[in-house]
Amino acid sequence: CGIVGYIGGREATEVVLNGLQRLEYRGYDSAGIAIYHPDAGLQLRRSVGKLINLQQRVQADPPRGRVGIGHTRWATHGGVTEQNAHPHRDASGTIVVIQNGIVENYLSLKGRLIELGYQFESQTDTEVIAKLIGHYYQEQRDLVAATRQALQELRGGNAVVAFCIHEPDTLVAARLGNAGGIAIGLGDNEQFIASDIPAILDYTRNLIFLEDHDIAVVRRDEVTITRLDGTPVTRAVHSIAWDP
Ligand code: GLU
Repeated sequence: CGIVGYIGGREATEVVLNGLQRLEYRGYDSAGIAIYHPDAGLQLRRSVGKLINLQQRVQADPPRGRVGIGHTRWATHGGVTEQNAHPHRDASGTIVVIQNGIVENYLSLKGRLIELGYQFESQTDTEVIAKLIGHYYQEQRDLVAATRQALQELRGGNAVVAFCIHEPDTLVAARLGNAGGIAIGLGDNEQFIASDIPAILDYTRNLIFLEDHDIAVVRRDEVTITRLDGTPVTRAVHSIAWDP
């Protein structure tokens, strides 16, 4: 339902939680974040209910790091439980994924992955995306390539953000169809990702909006956008006026 991502020089937890708070108006039933730090590793915090529950969990054990993602979930596949809250992980626990939308063919993809020996810890369609990206990552060792390959197999409208601890300088964001948008907020040696721009307007007013089947590779100092099939594209940067 709500997506936020950050990579840069600030504490990612603060930026991501602030962004999720700005998206509360969209409604949600659970929330979660994944923040990465080279020493602390991948730190996942999830909670059902209001954002305050997640905030309390974060306060009790604050994740550090300058890259991270967060999600407020509106459950479509799988009940409202902590295990079904995003982010979801691949089998190796090194890739995390958040998603808005619905993977219409998730049951057949899940069946295929189970046949390959994968085990699932949630009932969500999101975890199928995470496991599938992880599956291709084992072969490709390249998050963008693996994400591209996995997303090509999904049916339905989806917005997806992925992160892998082996490529800590990169966030990958993609938009498939019209279930939800993705905006990339451009900063000075920092970048932001959001499903809805109020999440990141505190930090930047320079925005790129992904089009259907665009995939963005987001690094501190550069944002590269291609089509899902790899064809390079240029997307305009829109400047939103600051409030008086
Ligand atoms: N289909 C996903 C789920 O049920 C994402 C729902 C959403 O857009 O928040 O977890």
